[in-house]
Amino acid sequence: MTATAAPPVWAAFGADAVAAADAARRVPAPPAPGARPVGPTPSADAARRVPGRPPGGRPLAIGGLAKLSTCDWPGKLAATVFLQGCPWNCLYCHNPDLIDSRAPGRIAWADVLAFLRGRVGLLDAVVFSGGEATRQDLAPALGQVRDLGFLAGLHTSGAYPKRLAELLPLVDWVGFDVKALPENMAQVAGAPGAGPAMTASLKLLIESGVPHQIRTTWGAGVPTVSTAAQAESVLEWARAQGAPNPVLQPVRPDGTRPQFRAPRTP
Ligand code: SF4
Repeated sequence: MTATAAPPVWAAFGADAVAAADAARRVPAPPAPGARPVGPTPSADAARRVPGRPPGGRPLAIGGLAKLSTCDWPGKLAATVFLQGCPWNCLYCHNPDLIDSRAPGRIAWADVLAFLRGRVGLLDAVVFSGGEATRQDLAPALGQVRDLGFLAGLHTSGAYPKRLAELLPLVDWVGFDVKALPENMAQVAGAPGAGPAMTASLKLLIESGVPHQIRTTWGAGVPTVSTAAQAESVLEWARAQGAPNPVLQPVRPDGTRPQFRAPRTP
């Protein structure tokens, strides 16, 4: 998952865990009165389709579902779908259980869709997060959530520029993590090509005109972005790429692996 300004990403699984996570980590479910639908009116076609997988797409490996988030898309009430698998391996990852790309999904897309059908008019948006959400065949699912009347959001760290280019016309907002200066990305992400991939993806996003938030996680223990000066240098780089308002978010050790939390333990 891309590290967000949100509380640590929920990574519990199954229906009971969803409810528990809602109670523990997210704002309680909103009442129906006064809730506002956003986006297109659900089409009759969408009403007919509640398939077990995105039409024409491979089954999504879904590691978790947050039924209500007020922070995964700032200003929107969203459900967040956490996709399994990430090609990177950041030390401070909030969802290390979602990194393994071979792990099967734990929630069926059909169940997510059934849940979303009951939230039409109550939620603004559906955010696809992860893991690295662009690793999977997201286009059909994005179409489905839009057909239901939701805005479609995407979290990404930019690991797959070509896939991001294909998805940008299908999303209404992107939360993009600039994890480090390009020359430090391989160290931060544990992947040699991470710097060029992130840079190319950021360029695509900015040029697309799709509304977005660009954010950088920083703080004690974050490789190459542990000090305010290092964090500011990343923001400066992002601004130079054409992102006028990148934001900083403090790293949150909860949910991370013991290797990251260890130095913080007295
Ligand atoms: S390993 Fe890094 S890029 Fe992948 S999900 Fe975790 S924080 Fe995000």
